[in-house]
Amino acid sequence: MKIIMLGAPGAGKGTQAKMLADKYHIPHISTGDIFRANIKNGTELGNKAKVFMDKGMLVPDELTCDLVVDRIKQEDCKDGYILDGFPRTIPQAECLDQALETLGDKIDYAVDVEVPDENIVRRMSGRRACASCGATYHIVYNAPEKEGVCDRCGAELILRDDDKPETVQKRLTVYHEQTQPLIDYYKNKGVLAQVDGTKDMQEVFQSIVNVLEK
Ligand code: ADP
Ligand code: ADP
Ligand code: ZN
Repeated sequence: MKIIMLGAPGAGKGTQAKMLADKYHIPHISTGDIFRANIKNGTELGNKAKVFMDKGMLVPDELTCDLVVDRIKQEDCKDGYILDGFPRTIPQAECLDQALETLGDKIDYAVDVEVPDENIVRRMSGRRACASCGATYHIVYNAPEKEGVCDRCGAELILRDDDKPETVQKRLTVYHEQTQPLIDYYKNKGVLAQVDGTKDMQEVFQSIVNVLEK
């Protein structure tokens, strides 16, 4: 099963992608996580990406596409994968389609997690991320057992730099301009599934599973 997660920043793509990856035993591929790991390790890619991420802008397509195309060619992706945060622009979607075509493959579903902008800022300001394993929490909706500490690995939880309200606003604007057109793109391909992302996490998960198993 090859799935794309669409939705605004903070819509819950990562949360749902992790749950789906566990259920279907397929890799969760998050371009945001890949960039953050590169920043942490001080790679050239990380240094380049950071400049854009800190401003709430998208990392240029040419730094993003090849990375994902290489990743989905790896052995662990042969039975499927979940792309979280990619594609985010029409050129990225076209680049992915081209690569899939060469592989004789296609996307099964693009799942759009719909959450209005009003809810997003609240979600983002409460988001906490594990600095070590990448697990995500919310101080109200998905609190860790012990405040500030990751349930999974015990490391410290942090507020991402780009989750500060000023940057969130910019990311939302970028989302509407550059990413939202992908909804029509995948609708036209007949693979779009839209779910109400304002429900609680389990309900959203169930509605996605219902679509995938229909
Ligand atoms: P979000 O919570 O907004 O979904 P992500 O972790 O997916 O956040 O992405 C964080 C940042 O990483 C984005 O704001 C952007 O700068 C960069 N990024 C992630 N994926 C992409 C992509 N496919 N194209 C361009 N930039 C990306
Ligand atoms: P995205 O990957 O789309 O940026 P996340 O999955 O990181 O979004 O979710 C953003 C924040 O909202 C996190 O703090 C997460 O715990 C919380 N969250 C995710 N789904 C829900 C939901 N259905 N209801 C309330 N909060 C949620
Ligand atoms: Zn952790």
